[in-house]
Amino acid sequence: MAIPTYQRTLAKDVRCSGIGLHSGKPVRLTLKPAPINYGIKFVRKDLPDNPTIPARFNCVVDTSLATVIGSDGVIVSTIEHLMACLAGLSIDNVIVELDAYEVPVMDGSAGPFTRMIMEAGIQQQEAPRHFFVLKEPIELEQDGKFVRAYPDTTFKITCNIDFENPLIRKQSCSIEVEDHIFEREISSARTFGFLHEVEYMKRYGLARGGSLDNAVVIDENEILNENGLRYPDEFVRHKLLDCIGDFALLGMPILAHIVTGKSGHAFNHAFLENFFKNKTSWHTLTLNEPADPPSRTAKSLAI
Ligand SMILES: [Zn+2]
Repeated sequence: MAIPTYQRTLAKDVRCSGIGLHSGKPVRLTLKPAPINYGIKFVRKDLPDNPTIPARFNCVVDTSLATVIGSDGVIVSTIEHLMACLAGLSIDNVIVELDAYEVPVMDGSAGPFTRMIMEAGIQQQEAPRHFFVLKEPIELEQDGKFVRAYPDTTFKITCNIDFENPLIRKQSCSIEVEDHIFEREISSARTFGFLHEVEYMKRYGLARGGSLDNAVVIDENEILNENGLRYPDEFVRHKLLDCIGDFALLGMPILAHIVTGKSGHAFNHAFLENFFKNKTSWHTLTLNEPADPPSRTAKSLAI
């Protein structure tokens, strides 16, 4: 399955509501179709003048517990799973409206967002997508963590994790990022945490919305969720999901094979900063598809 070469948006508005993972506060989310070259922007509908923040690496203001973007003192928090969903489905242009500062956590995965978008449909637009293309590998390595990007003709990610916990240990997962593969293999993988960390965070007023309904919680040798895991290697699949969300902050799709080891939001973000400093290592282009112009294909891909 080839990567889409024309820009895509939603066929219609989609809505959901839930609570914020860290705030515990209720929030309503609406995703709306957006025009060509709009990108993905978050709009705070609860604030005067509805401030808008682009979902781009240079608007990231915090990555310690969740990915937070901000501009002029206004923030939107915990955007990573929604961003992973939009990038995983190759959707370029969306208006994301929220009536609070945190994206709803839903079930701790990107599954609910993915299902509602697939149900609404994806609309192909009459303009080519612009891709980052690497001229040479780019790497960032520090304290046993690494992110490496290799030139490729498509978008692939390989994630490696290594935890001391016997339920996790070493896991590796590799996929080509394409909408059906993302939906089936990655979108439902939930965030995870250790019981002692969750208790610590709650003591300090964080993870107020966190529960067994939206995270896999591990207590030493035991998974506390009644129904166990959704995939035997759900942990590394979630890390891959997070990685897709972090790379979505490039603002444009990338043709590369990304390989990570023990990385997380903060280190992925450091890689993106490094990427934009290495301007001689990449360029951007569009992929022509002369045999299949959008004017002759179905406008709404009901997938
Ligand atoms: Zn996550």
